[in-house]
Amino acid sequence: MVDADQTFVIVGGGLAGAKAAETLRTEGFTGRVILICDERDHPYERPPLSKGYLLGKDTRESVFVHEPAWYAQNDVELHLGQTVDAIDRVAKTVRFGDDGTLAHYDKLLIATGAEPRRLDVPGTHLAGVHHLRRLAHAERLKGVLAALGRDNGHLVIAGGGWIGLEVAAAAREYGAEVTVVEPEPTPLHGVLGPELGALFADLHREHGVRFHFGARLTEIVGQDGMVLAARTDDGEEHPAHDVLAAIGAAPRTALAEAAGLELADRAHGGGVAVDSSLRTSDPDVYAAGDVASFPHGLFDTRLRVEHWANALNGGPAAARSMLGRAAAYDRVPYFFSDQYDLGMEYSGWAPPGTYDEVVIRGDAGKREFIAFWVKEGRVLAGMNVNVWDVTEPIQKLIASRTAVDTEALADPHVPLESLSA
Ligand SMILES: Cc1cc2nc3c(=O)[nH]c(=O)nc-3n(C[C@H](O)[C@H](O)[C@H](O)COP(=O)(O)OP(=O)(O)OC[C@H]3O[C@@H](n4cnc5c(N)ncnc54)[C@H](O)[C@@H]3O)c2cc1C
Repeated sequence: MVDADQTFVIVGGGLAGAKAAETLRTEGFTGRVILICDERDHPYERPPLSKGYLLGKDTRESVFVHEPAWYAQNDVELHLGQTVDAIDRVAKTVRFGDDGTLAHYDKLLIATGAEPRRLDVPGTHLAGVHHLRRLAHAERLKGVLAALGRDNGHLVIAGGGWIGLEVAAAAREYGAEVTVVEPEPTPLHGVLGPELGALFADLHREHGVRFHFGARLTEIVGQDGMVLAARTDDGEEHPAHDVLAAIGAAPRTALAEAAGLELADRAHGGGVAVDSSLRTSDPDVYAAGDVASFPHGLFDTRLRVEHWANALNGGPAAARSMLGRAAAYDRVPYFFSDQYDLGMEYSGWAPPGTYDEVVIRGDAGKREFIAFWVKEGRVLAGMNVNVWDVTEPIQKLIASRTAVDTEALADPHVPLESLSA
């Protein structure tokens, strides 16, 4: 039973941490809630940083999870710009800030998120090399894209994943020249596989993006501290004024690891290992969001999900567990992306090697369709492209784990709802 004398500490003020704090209060927790984050900005959502905010369409105010006043109004003790550098699981304290302040916890949530992977090549110290994770990065990149657009400048993007492609789309909207260097044969290969990856390649080519597939950046060439070009391992050289490293993110596990908490196998994406109720190997410590690796019953594997919906729902799920109201966290993974006039939502999990066919319902040529990744008739994942209000039936199909008739699945006249019945 939770009582008012208890203190719950949350490390990391991203979406997972902020939503966990909110849930503790909405579920009636009357003890202390301490939220500590190394960023100076109030907790904010990251998806706009590569879309509306980068394009100057969303205001800065619109990205925050709560209004600044919300924290005091809800008695959440917010420590911004302060890093937690140690967890003592015996004394049940965290240490944070320059002066090594100790805060006692009864329950602790680790919501430290992820950080961009760095390019390990010569030239990354140059002024024109960028990453995109934080508001400050987006602000800087916004100025860079505007200048490139004005001056007919070149942006080379290392990595054709979601962030690489969204920035490519934004850069083209600003009028910059864009080349994406990607080791795989299509963009988004590791998530969508070659079939749908090709569709995104075509979309971007139509908007003037150049791709260099099957290659890696080996050097960023500079002069007087400025970027001049980007070289690849097959000997090509692309002119560049700026380079964005968009080669994925790594979970921020150092704190958990130093505290002796169990980590997940790298083969399963790494991260802090939690059980189905988001509890770590220490019963008083929980983890949620990008940093957590949880066993997913639907896919019979551990997953570490680096998406907005997982932070939005995982933070509250961990908070309920901390309050002793644990329930299995088994939501179907979900994410969305917007590029030019293409909007999509993806539910499920079906990387290459896990599915045996892709079934298309609708018109892929017009980019108005739903794709299903299917194994032995069972739908593992579905992606709706410029088709809306179908997430619920798609997720039901995935959760039902039943084999479906793939001809009916491909037929837009057969209601999706009838297939999971
Ligand atoms: C540019 C961009 C675009 C995206 N677009 C989409 C999208 O379109 N759709 C989608 O589904 N997902 C998208 N995502 C992913 C989504 O934003 C993440 O899944 C989500 O932010 C994860 O939230 P989180 O709270 O787990 O982690 P984070 O948002 O990373 O927050 C963790 C916080 O903890 C802080 N922290 C870490 N260690 C410490 C420490 N020791 N002490 C104190 N503080 C610490 C970090 O600095 C950070 O502020 C995007 C991500 C980025 C970067």
